[in-house]
Amino acid sequence: MCTAYSEAEQTLLIFSPDHTQPAVMEKQLEDLKQQLEKQCLINKELQRQNKDLEQRLQEKEKLMQKLQNQFHDLELPSQSSNENELGFRKSRAAVIASEPIPETLELIRNKVKKTNSETGLIVKAIQKNDFLSRLDDEQLGMMVDLLAVCNLKPGDEVIKEGTEGDSMYIVAAGELVVTQAGQELRTLSTGDIFGELAILYNCKRTATVKAKTVVRLWCMERQTYRGIMTIKSKKKREQLMGFLKTSRTLKDLNDVQLSKIIDSMEEVKYQDKDVIVQEGTEGNTFYIILKGEVLVTKNVNGQQKQIRRMLKGEHFGEQALIREVLRTATCTADGPVTCFAIDKEVFEETIPIEQLELFDDSKVLQEGKAPEKFSPSSTPLRFSDLVPVFYQEGRYQGDPVTLGVGGFGRVELVTTLQHGKYYAMKKVSKTHIVSKRQEEHMLFEKKILKAIQCDFIVRLYAAFKDTRYIYMLMEFCSGGEMWTKLKEVGRFDEPIAVFCAACVVEAYAYLHKKNIMYRDLKPENLMMDLKGYVKLIDFGFAKELVRGDKTYSFVGTPEYIPPEIIKNQGHDFAVDFWSLGILIFELLAGSPPFSSTEPQRIYAKILDGVIKYPPYLSEAAKSIINKLCRLRPGQRLGNTKNGIKDIRHHRWFSSMNWHKLRMGQLDAPTLRLIRKGPCYINFDRFPYEHTIAEEEFSGWDKDF
Ligand code: ATP
Ligand code: MG
Repeated sequence: MCTAYSEAEQTLLIFSPDHTQPAVMEKQLEDLKQQLEKQCLINKELQRQNKDLEQRLQEKEKLMQKLQNQFHDLELPSQSSNENELGFRKSRAAVIASEPIPETLELIRNKVKKTNSETGLIVKAIQKNDFLSRLDDEQLGMMVDLLAVCNLKPGDEVIKEGTEGDSMYIVAAGELVVTQAGQELRTLSTGDIFGELAILYNCKRTATVKAKTVVRLWCMERQTYRGIMTIKSKKKREQLMGFLKTSRTLKDLNDVQLSKIIDSMEEVKYQDKDVIVQEGTEGNTFYIILKGEVLVTKNVNGQQKQIRRMLKGEHFGEQALIREVLRTATCTADGPVTCFAIDKEVFEETIPIEQLELFDDSKVLQEGKAPEKFSPSSTPLRFSDLVPVFYQEGRYQGDPVTLGVGGFGRVELVTTLQHGKYYAMKKVSKTHIVSKRQEEHMLFEKKILKAIQCDFIVRLYAAFKDTRYIYMLMEFCSGGEMWTKLKEVGRFDEPIAVFCAACVVEAYAYLHKKNIMYRDLKPENLMMDLKGYVKLIDFGFAKELVRGDKTYSFVGTPEYIPPEIIKNQGHDFAVDFWSLGILIFELLAGSPPFSSTEPQRIYAKILDGVIKYPPYLSEAAKSIINKLCRLRPGQRLGNTKNGIKDIRHHRWFSSMNWHKLRMGQLDAPTLRLIRKGPCYINFDRFPYEHTIAEEEFSGWDKDF
């Protein structure tokens, strides 16, 4: 019996009003005893039920967690599971569009007049579209003006599955039918948009569209679209630069610094009578008026007195950027106003960028080592010295080992009879390069790789060519691809992701110091050496860029492309920091944060910039990803005034000994991902390609 029972019993005994009559008392006592016993039983039962409930609750919580994880897995790589159904997805395809951009005049010449109702239809169609709805008013206006007309008869084919597209269409009138592999998918009618991916870059059409009736279409070519987007951003940058130069506070800054400020600024819209700045309050934002007029008033003896009116191009609040000041006047929007604004905090992070130190102590790495010659041995390697390595067992036994097949070529394992060292040899068909117009990229890839000597980037030892192929003889990264390992284990634990990202940071520090952007970060382009150290491979998209300049090509892999490339705003080194954020996410979660089977959907998600984190990601990981994946390039970690140092100092990297990493003295946590066995054990196996490429004599490769 529980002690509570006897205590209660005593208490009841003492205070019972009838305690003078023993018989009655005994009876009462008996009753009470029974009652208490009953109560005690009930209590016990309740306790038992409680325990039961607690256990069930715990089970439910566990289930919730499991479901949440599953939900996340479903949401993030949902598309990849789809893709796997369609076939074997080796890796994500990269995209590129680097055609020249037309001049403004050329564009304007092609304007097509539209009636009000036509304009209405087009605007409505664009606003309905996931991706195009993100255009701003001016871009939308230009698009409406520049859409051309195209008339079709029943049966006419607009786009053909498998061919490369260069236009998008809006149905003005009539009906069209969409088919894929002969199967009818749907009918398109007035207001529907199709083929819009092709205005971003050259991509294969995934379906055929034919006119069912007489059809009238509005159409736009990629060149025109790119022109609209780029001309506007270029013009806007030039204009903002001009505005900033008239500021007293900023006049001593150079163009590179001003350009950085522009990268960090954000557009803010105000309605008529909105107070932008209030006299007497603490100021911490600087504004440039892009559109509209602003009234400046001051409180004089209790009355608001108008001091002046500010117009487009004028700015206010500049003092707030450098000093703690209270606003000395009130600024109110007179009609709708658009400003470009920058907060003090962001401004301080942006300049002075003379202190921007991208490379700091990693110099040790370079200076500490004797410069290595282009060839690993004292005598340069000759093509004729190289012999293939063969599969020792399995399905392809006796065939030459193929390490990987990329979009452009095959990479084979070779060795020399003299010293038996292994090399990876990339072999690309010259006719393929020419047909894909990749001559410049190949030449540049070779030029860059040849000049690079960094432990975090694959080494190029020699380059060769013959009438059919060009060859690049590279250091063999025997640990295999990061992509394959990631797919094997699903997702990496934090130490592996930290190590991997740290290697990328070091590679970036080296490249950016040399004014080279990498632009194609993804697990497929990361390989491991014998020690588990991670290296960047594939420099097909790398580019040299003068600090402060922008470039306008559409390059990268959809999931890793930053908003400024999608918007054709011009981009620079900041793209690499964005992609680092995406990579960290993918390494930790197993799939990138913005994904879909349809590139347009990916781009729409990127422009929204909302990252959904799986529950198991640490706070530090979320923090670094958020800071790297800021929509405004000027605000990204790595791209503010302390440069790459800020990334190294982020708490997610707190366990990293950067010096030891550079010296190759860390025990790589990635080592446990690497299998032991024949030298090709960490690679997928590929059948040998027996067909020989055609000969090519145009001479583009004379400097290769
Ligand atoms: P894409 O442009 O489609 O990415 P690509 O034709 O440029 O491909 P790479 O990405 O350079 O080719 O290489 C293709 C594959 O070959 C890699 O994914 C990798 O599996 C393998 N590979 C490339 N370089 C090496 C190397 N140095 N050591 C070992 N394997 C390599
Ligand atoms: Mg690649």
